[in-house]
Amino acid sequence: LVSREARDEPTVVRVKEAIFGGDHLAIIAGPCAVESLEQVMKAAKYIKAAGGQVLRGGAYKPRTSPYAFQGMEEKGLEILKQAGNEYGLATVTEVIDEPSLELACDYVDMVQIGTRNMQNFRLLKAVGKVRKPVILKRGLSATIEEWLMAAEYIMSEGNDQVILCERGIRTFETYTRNTLDLSAIPVIKDLSHLPIIVDPSHATGSAKLVGSMSKGAIASGVDGLIIEVHPEPCKALCDGPQSLDPQQFTALMEELKRVANAV
Ligand code: PEP
Ligand code: MN
Repeated sequence: LVSREARDEPTVVRVKEAIFGGDHLAIIAGPCAVESLEQVMKAAKYIKAAGGQVLRGGAYKPRTSPYAFQGMEEKGLEILKQAGNEYGLATVTEVIDEPSLELACDYVDMVQIGTRNMQNFRLLKAVGKVRKPVILKRGLSATIEEWLMAAEYIMSEGNDQVILCERGIRTFETYTRNTLDLSAIPVIKDLSHLPIIVDPSHATGSAKLVGSMSKGAIASGVDGLIIEVHPEPCKALCDGPQSLDPQQFTALMEELKRVANAV
């Protein structure tokens, strides 16, 4: 179902004002984690003003350490919904299991499967049964074939609104948090009709690398970007070093519009 042979036309996923696929560039932005109403409202205000269409925010955080902040759960979903409504942004949040999926569907417009759950096949099947677009992140060490088969799990249950997300893979390089595989963009376009977006924040782990990787992704034909933005990155409970502040995000959006028009 995911392959070009199954469908030649590019799949276009529309979520409120965001269009993933075709000749569009969709921008998702927001904090790694929902921390408070004030934090998300501030982020949403700048994201809307800069031209973003989708607000991200984690309410369930699958952290490497069990002692790290695990997310605000349902309260976080409520905050995300409130900020999305206030600023006219669509919303997306990560789901980590069937209970969080069921709850998230009551609050957000799109759900996200994180890198650590790319091969959680029961979760993929559950997401395949809901009527919400799904962002499927590439597994930390997943091949493109494995990633597409994970998308196949979702589609085989009836949900054809799948957006693939390249977020960097694990290599021997340790300077960056992960290694962004930009070649995944044209390869996916060749193999599949599904839209593909890039997450330059988790790919690099560094706010100063987000701009260049975003531009590289646009030049490579990406359908959208998911960028971490925090009103005060130095105070973030999660992923502060890779988060842009509102001024950096606003300036980057101006540059990205020029790059997108040039390609
Ligand atoms: C995230 O987007 O907040 C996240 C945890 O990303 P990943 O699953 O790519 O690590
Ligand atoms: Mn994060």
